[in-house]
Amino acid sequence: MAPRSDVGGRVRPALRGLAPYDPAFSACRVNLSANENTHEVPAPVRDAVREALLATPLNRYPDPLANDLRDALAAWHGVGRSSLIVGNGGDEILYNLLLAFGGPGRTLVHCPPDFAEYENFAAITETACVDVWRDAEDFSVDADSLVDAARAADLVIVTSPNNPTGDLFDPALVRRLLDETGALVLVDEAYVEFAPEGSSLASWVAGDPRLMVLRTLSKAFALAGLRCGYLVADPAVVDVLTSIRQIYSVDVLAQAVAAASLACRDQIRGLVADIVAERARLAAGLARMVGVKVWPSAGNFVLVRMARAGVIRRRLRDERSILVRDFSYAPGLNDCLRLTVGAREEDDALLGALAELTRGES
Ligand SMILES: *Cc1c(COP(=O)(O)O)cnc(C)c1O
Repeated sequence: MAPRSDVGGRVRPALRGLAPYDPAFSACRVNLSANENTHEVPAPVRDAVREALLATPLNRYPDPLANDLRDALAAWHGVGRSSLIVGNGGDEILYNLLLAFGGPGRTLVHCPPDFAEYENFAAITETACVDVWRDAEDFSVDADSLVDAARAADLVIVTSPNNPTGDLFDPALVRRLLDETGALVLVDEAYVEFAPEGSSLASWVAGDPRLMVLRTLSKAFALAGLRCGYLVADPAVVDVLTSIRQIYSVDVLAQAVAAASLACRDQIRGLVADIVAERARLAAGLARMVGVKVWPSAGNFVLVRMARAGVIRRRLRDERSILVRDFSYAPGLNDCLRLTVGAREEDDALLGALAELTRGES
């Protein structure tokens, strides 16, 4: 028996040494660090959200199945309610997927550099991770290596567009994963609304019980604080996830606001179009800077590489009050920073500051 004070020694061995998630946030004038939607939400959407909040009683438990919200999402995606589950952000669904289909003796295959939560949730659930690393320069995925690795896997996660590299995942390779392996395949489409029309594979789910598509309202719908994501999947997968989830993880406010926002989808489309246009302007401004490499992006962020990126990131924060995400230390991403596409004034502040700092540091 561990001594009374030795809390660490009592933790399940697999969970020892995990660190609390800390995005190193500091309050800044301009925050472009977390891929949030910083554009102004159209007034009719804001009004609809406010009304939904005011009309929601807080003394009652939420509908644990979120059926009204699922019906709204299902109608949008042209699937049945039974093919859809809602979570406390996409993160909860990722966690539950690993809880249900990973675990000791199971294997997850993914393609880093990608979303850090995959590895994190795999570690917590004692799921073995097989990394199929992307090309160091263009971040492409070697199709044969991925299919080979996936043959022995329980679950494959691919990300389209990928965070933080911005590229879309080749649908033909998803097809190969489904046809040539027996693994469950999750396509994480957290940013797909910012990609060209037709990029989503959600419509493939009906034809393939092993395909799952993850979406979220955090990015395009400007609701990161609400915590609402969803999965389009075969009803059998939805049943499993429904039976293991925290029953009230999606609260009454989240259900009401998400439904109200979905009803304003046409206005959100305009908001997304603004961000896509601003992404092009930001990328063009960055591309004009000497010593800055910019990768093309289908998300609401761009990845850049520059000499002394870690120093520049710190100076942006400390001298200009502009926060961006530092990947300069991350494997496969040395000297890289991820810049969320902000509103025009925010991006202008970033471009101006970067032009000066990269000149000074080179
Ligand atoms: C933001 C993000 C998610 C989900 O975010 P939630 O806020 O939990 O819905 C999922 N995958 C990727 C790659 C993301 O960047």
